[in-house]
Amino acid sequence: MRRIGVELRNLSLLTMGSAYPRLTLADVNTVRIGGEILIPGSSLKGALRTAAHRAAGKFGFTSCGQVEPRMISRAHEAMGRVCDVCELFGMPGVPSNSSSKLLISNLRPKLDVPTITVTRVSLDPERGKAREGGLFTVEAIPPCTLFEGEITLLSDGNGKYLKLLMAALDELANGSFGRGAIVEIRVRDVPLQEFKHLESWRWDICP
Ligand SMILES: [Zn+2]
Repeated sequence: MRRIGVELRNLSLLTMGSAYPRLTLADVNTVRIGGEILIPGSSLKGALRTAAHRAAGKFGFTSCGQVEPRMISRAHEAMGRVCDVCELFGMPGVPSNSSSKLLISNLRPKLDVPTITVTRVSLDPERGKAREGGLFTVEAIPPCTLFEGEITLLSDGNGKYLKLLMAALDELANGSFGRGAIVEIRVRDVPLQEFKHLESWRWDICP
């Protein structure tokens, strides 16, 4: 078992909650639970899974490319095996051999978060213009808010899962991540030399 500390910070406004289905989009949600603002571990895990599918081939891992349960089963049947990404992240099926090797904690802000209220306009996609009476407000988190959490790797599969996890973090750190917000990620004490750069922020623009 290995524990890996991760830090995440947003470089643009991060709106609270999300209307987008978590399974299909690499998005990071922020929620408020009992007065506390956090990024659910499941939200980071979803984004990481999508990133792992993208990064797998580059590092010699197999990927079915699917995130939706029914599609996953079908893709594995066609491949004749369970792909490396699903081995690490888990998949639908019998829990004993399909459970995830990863536990991802909720990410909590390091300091108190002064949220701000932003007014948005709801758009009518068919007419391509603002809906009448379509003004609404959302709660948002200001840029450069630092969140902290922990990833626990329950088994490193002789190094295979550790490397795939690092590859996914690397992909997430370098890709655009989140649908509306720009978020960057940093990993504490990276255990593999080839991913040491993940110990630094990609952009050095926060105070
Ligand atoms: Zn798969």
